[in-house]
Amino acid sequence: MDHFDDLVAAYRILAEYGVIDAYGHVSLRSPTNPQRYYLARSLAPERVQAEDILEYDLDSNPLDARGRESVTERFIHGEILKARPDIMAVVHNHSPSVVPFSVTGVPMRALWHMAAFIGDGLPNWEIRDVRKGTDLLVRDAQLGSSLAKTLGAKPAALMRGHGSVTVGESLPRAVGRSVYLELSARMQMQALALSQKVNYLDEAEVRASTPHQDYKRAWPMWREKALARAKAERK
Ligand SMILES: [Zn+2]
Repeated sequence: MDHFDDLVAAYRILAEYGVIDAYGHVSLRSPTNPQRYYLARSLAPERVQAEDILEYDLDSNPLDARGRESVTERFIHGEILKARPDIMAVVHNHSPSVVPFSVTGVPMRALWHMAAFIGDGLPNWEIRDVRKGTDLLVRDAQLGSSLAKTLGAKPAALMRGHGSVTVGESLPRAVGRSVYLELSARMQMQALALSQKVNYLDEAEVRASTPHQDYKRAWPMWREKALARAKAERK
């Protein structure tokens, strides 16, 4: 199935760009049933093949697990897809350059056209507002729906001391946003190290850039390379 290949590619692209480590994941809403989504079993992202992909309902129950282990934080995907009928894909990652912004109160801002979607900032989810003394993981639907509420209608949200989520109206958009969010965070730290007077994109520039940013030029190349690697590993 083509959309399984898309998802296999998405995992491998995110791993290659350093966005997801051994624990990140990406989901795709079923193109035929909006009440279902696909997510890989608990496995390193650069190893994912089509047979590792499971189907879930929006309460994050696997439908046909056949012994395959689900990821603990699948509730992130189910609850966001439930709250956001407009989106098709969710990426959860521990993107290293984004985390410092989640713990310092320094807002992420759009300073580069490739990540204009950041706009004038992204919400930051505080797990302690729901539950204290956790291991920071989104282990159930209550935590997932709280995160979805913080995300609201935004393209991404930070998760304090943990990572972030990015969403998209398409899989390439969610993946592209994740890659460029990491790069933009790194650039913002570099810019702030040079000067406290950073010239950010203004509101009109954000508005003019964001609707076109679907990463359609990058996606076919990323996908082709990722699927070639997946195929080579089968031999
Ligand atoms: Zn996580």
